This record gives sequence, C-alpha cells and structure tokens, in this order.
Amino acid sequence: MPFSLGQFAQDKDIDGAIAEALGSLDAQSFSFRIEARGARWEPLQALRPEGPPLHPSDFEVVTVHDPALDRMRLSWRRSIIEPLSGNVVYDEIVVGNEGYITDPDVALGPQPAHAMKSDRLAAVRRQQYLLHPQLLVGDALRRQQNTGQQVIRSVGRQELDGAPHEVVEIDASPRPIRLLVALDSNQVSRLVTQENDFPCGDVEIVVAFSHWRRHGGLAFPYEVELSWEGEVIHRETRRRIELNPRLDPDAFVLPATHPFDPEVAERGLFNEQWVHRATGMSAPIILDAGEVVLVRLSPDVVSIGGGIHHSLAIILDSGVVVVDPPQHEARSLAVIKAVTARWPDKPITHLILTHHHHDHSGGIRAYAAIGAELIMAEGDRDFITKCLSRPHTIRPDTLAAAGIRSTIQTVGDEGLSLGDGEIQIYRISSPHCAENLVVYVRSVKLLFNADLFNPGLVPPGVAPPPHWLTYSRDFRRRIEALDLDIELLVGAHGVPEGGPYQELIDFTE
Ligand SMILES: [Zn+2]
Repeated sequence: MPFSLGQFAQDKDIDGAIAEALGSLDAQSFSFRIEARGARWEPLQALRPEGPPLHPSDFEVVTVHDPALDRMRLSWRRSIIEPLSGNVVYDEIVVGNEGYITDPDVALGPQPAHAMKSDRLAAVRRQQYLLHPQLLVGDALRRQQNTGQQVIRSVGRQELDGAPHEVVEIDASPRPIRLLVALDSNQVSRLVTQENDFPCGDVEIVVAFSHWRRHGGLAFPYEVELSWEGEVIHRETRRRIELNPRLDPDAFVLPATHPFDPEVAERGLFNEQWVHRATGMSAPIILDAGEVVLVRLSPDVVSIGGGIHHSLAIILDSGVVVVDPPQHEARSLAVIKAVTARWPDKPITHLILTHHHHDHSGGIRAYAAIGAELIMAEGDRDFITKCLSRPHTIRPDTLAAAGIRSTIQTVGDEGLSLGDGEIQIYRISSPHCAENLVVYVRSVKLLFNADLFNPGLVPPGVAPPPHWLTYSRDFRRRIEALDLDIELLVGAHGVPEGGPYQELIDFTE
C-alpha cells in the first residue's frame, strides 16, 4: 500500500483520500481467498423479450488469487435450475496466459478436463477483474509502473444515489473501466464499462459493490452485483475472506495447456459476459463459426448442422429461405456462405427466427445485412428492431457496415405461408418461450422447431431434464391442434437429420 500511495500522491489529478481508497485496493503484493455464493440470471432467455429474466442457476465458488504471480484458481459448484438441471463441479485455473478446466463445466455437451482456450481464459480473467476491484487496481498500477504511462486517472465527479463520487478511469480493452468512489466513505460504489453482445451490440456492464470490510491492507466488498444493460445477471455474497492464505503449490499446476492466441483472446475479452452467460445456463457457447455440415433431407431442403445449434434451408423458385440464425455473426456468415455455395444462383430471400432467445437470435443481423426479409413472431418485433438499430461500435459487424434498412414481417395467430404453401409458419406458445415459430415444409412433411423437442438430443433410456419433458409435452399438444401431416421432426438441437414423429410420442408418453 505505501508504494501505491506514493504513486497516487504524485498524481495531481487524484486527491489524498481517493489515493488512499485506491491504495487499499492495490492487491499487487497480497494473495487472497474468498468463499462466496450467488445466482445468475439471463435476460435473453426470458419468456418474453421484455422479461423478467430467467434464473438458470445458483453457484458456490471459492476463488484464490495470487496476483504477484498472475495466477488464480476458481472452484465452482453450480446448481442448474432451468432449462437444464443437475450440478456441475469444476475448477478453472489460470496462470499467466495459460489455463485449465479440471472437470466438465456444463451440463449440455459436457467435455472432460481440458486445457483452456485463449477466449475462455480472457473472459475468466476479465470477470474476475470486474468482480474484484483489487485485481483491477493492482494491475493498473503495475502497468503504470512498467510502462511509465498513465493508466489510471481521475476524470471528475458524479452524483450517484444522491451522494457525490469521484470518477476514476482505468485504461482497458475494449473500453475504459470507470470506478465511482464515494467521497464520504472512500469506498468504490460502482464499476462501469462496456463490452459486445450478439445481437445487442455495445452493452453496458455495471458492478455494484457494498458491505466493505478491511482485511489487513486490503478492503473487500462482501456484496457484489454485476448488471448487463441494467439487469442484474450475477449476484454474489462473500461469506469468508482470508488474506495471504497458505497456498497449495499443486493448486496452480496446469496438466495441459493451449498456446496463447491473442486474436482468440480478444474475442473472449470483448464478449466476456456472453461466455459467462452461457456457463450460467450450463450450455457451451462457441465464439468461432464452428463446422458447417449440410445434411440433405430432400433436393430442396437441407438441415445445417456441425455445431450445437442447427438451421434449416429450403429452396423455393424465388430463392432460399433459412430458418434460425443461431449464436452470432461468425456462425451466420459461415452458414450463408455454405448455403450460397450450394445454390449459387439463388439469393437468400428470407430468414425465419424461431424465437428471441440469444442463442437463436444472435446471428440475425448478418441476414439483415444481405437484405433478407426477417420473419418473426409478433412479440419479437420490438426486440429485434432494437437489435437492428443499436450501436455496434465495439465489434462492428456486416450490418453496421452495410447500413441497410431491414424488412420485417411478423407472424400472429393466422400464421404465414411462403412459396404457395410449400412453407407454412405457425406461432405457438410454450412454457419455454411465450412466442415460437415452427416451420412446416409440405413437400417433405417436415416440422422444424427450436428447443421444444430435439430429436436425438437425449439418448434412449436416459432421463431428460424435467423442464424439457414439460416443453415437449406442451409442444405435442400444440402441434396436434395444428393438425398437420408430419413425418419428420427436426430440432434446432439434437441430430441435424431429425427423427420420425413417433420419437415425440415416445418421448412424451
Ligand atoms: Zn430457447
């Protein structure tokens, strides 16, 4: 602390009291261990785009930080609530630019112990810096000392909840990070920064800190809440904090590593909460395009697999209709390329969105950028319209560059058909999502859905998560009411070739 106080005292911008407050957050020469428990929420998996957010999981975590050697170990126990269920128990170990995950960390598509890729590593490190201002301030001071450049500075004063605060800004990527220090208590009340989201673009990340206590030379908040665009998505309560704990030398051993890739790391850094929101859902989210595998269902219909999420492409005389733009722009661009290579003389004229959830809508802007008409449920129009017009300056995408005005068509209770009835689109409700579009392709008697029933996802004889059974039973009732002649069901997850209608009956009996 004395060193950093000296450092601040020389900085005319930061007065003595604030310098002392920041000095009590300089973790460069300390290690610490924190036991906490908390919850995650997910705004873009709600029943409706306007919320309230889904509560997918709770967690207990023990974090051990040793910033002097740039190493951390996070021991997670997550209780998965909805839509998946069960517990996942794993550790994340980060040492410098290398990392390791000790056990399967998600319930959907779990992987055994593996070396951490650079995007995950960057996302893990950034979230820890946001939740622990000691790491952030310590790192800023180290950078300042090492480079001789000013990294941390006062940028003025601001009222927060009626109390005056000093605003301290730290240079960071993709955007500076601001700490709001209360002038009465000299404690950090808030952290404010921005990052990228698919499909929302530039999003504001705010962390609220309270219930500060001193442990030796360091101050710690016991209550921490991280918000995404004004919605709390991560809340944790610290129950036990230990300064300079005995560190087990084996705790930071990495059994395997990946070479650090700065480009991949930047992807994780810029989309940090996208990664943690997936982990909170206990679902793997891949930030790269993934493999694109076209599975021919008929000469005119292909299912597009290769990842966790599938799309469907149907050719009409006028062009190609694609169903669902999952994940993000990189995935959509790869799918658009594969579809265009398959049918080079046909434009993609329409994109049908099954529902607003972020893992299905994340790539929609790429279809807007090529001028495809966007078809969605009535209740999704406002959300998607906002996504299409929001600033995307952190990671400018193809739509940001194209500047095209998109055409939207919505589907209500009356449904919609394309290609003289070859494609019939119906809106159905579900306990998974209030409004879902399901797509019937007449020539092959196929019905495509997302998340309501996924042929091939649950192996025979394995008990599915209870929520999935609820969704599928409800789905069966809804499509029975549509009275369609269905032979093949294809889901946005599971096997891309789908399965016979009988699978739904067997699953829901
Ligand atoms: Zn969904």
